[in-house]
Amino acid sequence: MSNHAAAATAGLLVMRRVEATARWFSIDPGPADAGCQFAVSVRCYVKRSLVFRRRGQPPYVIYQPYIGASNGSIMKFGVRDLSVLQSDDACRWALRRMLARMPQLQVLRHTDVDWDDVVPSNMVPQIVRAACGDNAPHGFTFHFVMAVDRQFIHDEQALLMACKRELGGSDKLENCPICLDVLEGEPVVQPPRCPHAFHHRCIFRWFCKATTCPICRRDVRICALPEFLSL
Ligand SMILES: [Zn+2]
Ligand SMILES: [Zn+2]
Repeated sequence: MSNHAAAATAGLLVMRRVEATARWFSIDPGPADAGCQFAVSVRCYVKRSLVFRRRGQPPYVIYQPYIGASNGSIMKFGVRDLSVLQSDDACRWALRRMLARMPQLQVLRHTDVDWDDVVPSNMVPQIVRAACGDNAPHGFTFHFVMAVDRQFIHDEQALLMACKRELGGSDKLENCPICLDVLEGEPVVQPPRCPHAFHHRCIFRWFCKATTCPICRRDVRICALPEFLSL
């Protein structure tokens, strides 16, 4: 049900975790639609969060804006061939393809591995049971409500990963505001959305204690969000 996909770049780590759970289901008898005798109807609630973990401290969680219920959270999918729902593997595959069409889930930009986790595993046997039952040939609509929780979990090393390594031509290389030595001649980085530059080694030590730019106090955890989300 949950999977940990690690995006490791040069030993730095950001984890992505997707968890889908079905909260409720029901089966309505009778033809679902004019065109199809069988249908699966899904209502989906999506939660996204960014979790910052630092050794010896409680996790810091930033919730991203909730994706409104009106934005494609309910969809109904017609099924013409009942056999598609009559075995665990076929049903899981069909559900995965249905869920991939939901706008709410598309905005999460799941990887292939994430999509495997988006299908609530406890729903598959319920649907198969309905599709193999005595009433199945008369048609049915299988309704279920699911919640999807996608988290990015990262640590202080990931903050460094979100920093710019190549400074723009207009950036003047002066002194590192942390150690006051000249920046030139050493690897230099710039926190996201921040005009300040630091030695790579100095800002890493800083990130082990604080998550803001030492000069402008922008919170790098929040500024780095777009970088993490594009992983
Ligand atoms: Zn320095
Ligand atoms: Zn700054």
